[in-house]
Amino acid sequence: MYKRQHKKISTGGRDEKFGLSFNEFTTLCKKINEMKNLRLVILGRQGSGKGTQCLRLSELYRTIHISTGDMLRAAVKAGSPMGLAAKEYMDAGLLVSDEVIIGLIEERLQNDDAGQGVLFDGFPRSIPQAESLEVIATVSSVISIEVPDDAIVDRIVGRRMDPETGEIYHVSFKPAPTEIQDRLVQRPDDTEETVRARLGAYHTQTAPLADWYSERGLLIRIDGDASIEQVGASVEEAIASISCCLLYTSDA
Ligand code: AMP
Repeated sequence: MYKRQHKKISTGGRDEKFGLSFNEFTTLCKKINEMKNLRLVILGRQGSGKGTQCLRLSELYRTIHISTGDMLRAAVKAGSPMGLAAKEYMDAGLLVSDEVIIGLIEERLQNDDAGQGVLFDGFPRSIPQAESLEVIATVSSVISIEVPDDAIVDRIVGRRMDPETGEIYHVSFKPAPTEIQDRLVQRPDDTEETVRARLGAYHTQTAPLADWYSERGLLIRIDGDASIEQVGASVEEAIASISCCLLYTSDA
């Protein structure tokens, strides 16, 4: 069927489904293929649900998920010199230096899989980081998941992790099964004091990024104060609109 249709349109006919000529059809296929390589920045305060949405999206679209927070936590766990230096800042809710973060990202983007679609989660977190990213990769679009500060404090302070499976629970919104409750742990930077410090860092260093990306026509804001499924649906809608825009604006 595919061969028959391909032969027909390549010899001057038109594609049956979309009514396109051979050239139009191959251009469309090329553009759709490029779309699989979307490089999206997911912006949001800590606890806005961006990590959860990135995990969903990386499975749905088979893109790689680059989380600087996860990379730093892995470095801390491994006890590397960089991890030990970063830990002090992370425990205090402060941002790790731009230099360290940019080095991590540059190294990660050298992996073979980085040629496919990428979701940047928790990076960039400052305008210098965004400027550096601009030099090493083209960002297709930026989705900002927006949640008010007080809702963030409730979400983060009640967050617990199962160290055996890595599953995240919440004391009120997503209680863990009774039999595993005793083994749950709280991330050391998930206390109210640290959360407020992290929100402060977000407002001074990260929030200006939304305007920075908006000036470049790349920002899409999403209401993140809703269920995981509702936010997921809004994010998918945003990605569909980004893909449509690319389809109509990118060069043949
Ligand atoms: P996260 O899991 O994304 O909330 O990150 C946890 C902590 O890692 C943050 O509070 C920062 O201390 C540090 N961190 C993660 N990503 C960055 C970044 N892009 N720039 C600076 N610090 C970061």
